[in-house]
Amino acid sequence: MEYQDPKTLTKDRAMIERYDAVIGPGGHLIYFPLVVERYEGAIITDIDGNEYIDFLSSASSMNLGGGHPAVMEAVRKQAEEVTQYATAYTFNVPMVEYAERLTSVYPGGVKAKLLYGHCGSDANDGAIKISRAYTGRDKIITFINGYHGGTFGASSLTTVTSRMQSGVGPMLPGIFSFPFFHDGMDDDYVEKNCVKQIREAFSTYLPAREVAAIIIEPIQGDGGMLPAHPIFMKMLLELYEENGILLIVEEVQQAMGRTGKWFSIENYGIVPDGIILGKSVGAGFPLSAFLGRAEIVDSLQAPAHGFTFAGNHMSCAAGLAAFDVMNEPGFFEEVIAKGEYIKGKFAKLKERHRLIGDIRGIGMSIGVEVLGEDGAPDATGTSKICYRAYEKGLIMISLAGNVLRIQPPLIITYEEIDKGLAIIDEAISEYEAGRIPDEVLENCAGW
Ligand code: PMP
Repeated sequence: MEYQDPKTLTKDRAMIERYDAVIGPGGHLIYFPLVVERYEGAIITDIDGNEYIDFLSSASSMNLGGGHPAVMEAVRKQAEEVTQYATAYTFNVPMVEYAERLTSVYPGGVKAKLLYGHCGSDANDGAIKISRAYTGRDKIITFINGYHGGTFGASSLTTVTSRMQSGVGPMLPGIFSFPFFHDGMDDDYVEKNCVKQIREAFSTYLPAREVAAIIIEPIQGDGGMLPAHPIFMKMLLELYEENGILLIVEEVQQAMGRTGKWFSIENYGIVPDGIILGKSVGAGFPLSAFLGRAEIVDSLQAPAHGFTFAGNHMSCAAGLAAFDVMNEPGFFEEVIAKGEYIKGKFAKLKERHRLIGDIRGIGMSIGVEVLGEDGAPDATGTSKICYRAYEKGLIMISLAGNVLRIQPPLIITYEEIDKGLAIIDEAISEYEAGRIPDEVLENCAGW
């Protein structure tokens, strides 16, 4: 029952002490003492030389994994020419070419345009601004347990934890959060209840004609990898069509091939008015975009969403190269096949480990619930399993307390998947046998 601290973490620990001395705590969640030195394919190496299989893809921001040759080549070439030049005042080729690619795959063949930013959070802010500018209305509807980011606009939309908002308010006014109905809930229940509260709000305190947009994650990521219930999405669609409200999907975590499609909303057959992109859109460089129907994007006056670095050469060259890799025939089919393979393996593990609950998600965006003996969520067990998996060479984190987040790079090999799953199997067995001490919890407080 000894505490199995990895043998060679001397440099990592020393670096974290230096970090704590000079960097504040406000931007970091504690999962493991990992100081990343190299990242190649689906393998991370820390500064002590330990290797880890990656089931996190840098929070789904590196869908092609580390150092993809096509991305690296584009980045090297770009770096030799120019890294960036104020995009608020000048133009560049990669930003235009990448925008041409991204708009060409907009669902439903809709004529689309985009506005660039740097991160998922500012793209959420952009969605608020653009939907207000286009509709002339100021209220926004969003959903409980959603995560949208750390800028003021994005934090105002976020309800996954009150720590995003506490002590830093007031947040943006005019944002209303309603319950999210996820896949797996009873169809009749969803049909009767999913838009009931919104309709009640429309007739009591929130006039529908003042609502600019509904902003929704089709799959709640940090909220627990929960795909929206298809009936819920369909009924939201009716609601927005009836009332002239824009439907904006928040795809920061789930787009760019993660579900085996460019955008996760394509799994629902719905054509949205706008799509919020971040993370993997920049293939490892800071980039975001609000992608939407052309007339909606055109409604915002300059420079209301202008940023010095937005759409810079490096980020767009990287994103463009990654786009072309994913656009190769068969790439998305392979993502779907790997996702099914992983879910199938978890279903097998579930036969041996009673603590595995719901196994959910689409493509390679998978959540696995961990339950206690009484069937209730086991957040402590989830943290212990993640930490032990880390000690054994797998990077995986927990979400929503008791959900294992399984989002490997899309290019991970089947052999690496098997190794990662074998580590999870061992970590679960050790937890079941009471062999993961409470001390590890100090190192993995998580969300
Ligand atoms: N939206 C979603 C769904 C996210 O998962 C995240 C990041 N976890 C964000 C927005 C914020 O993105 P960023 O941290 O790049 O600003």
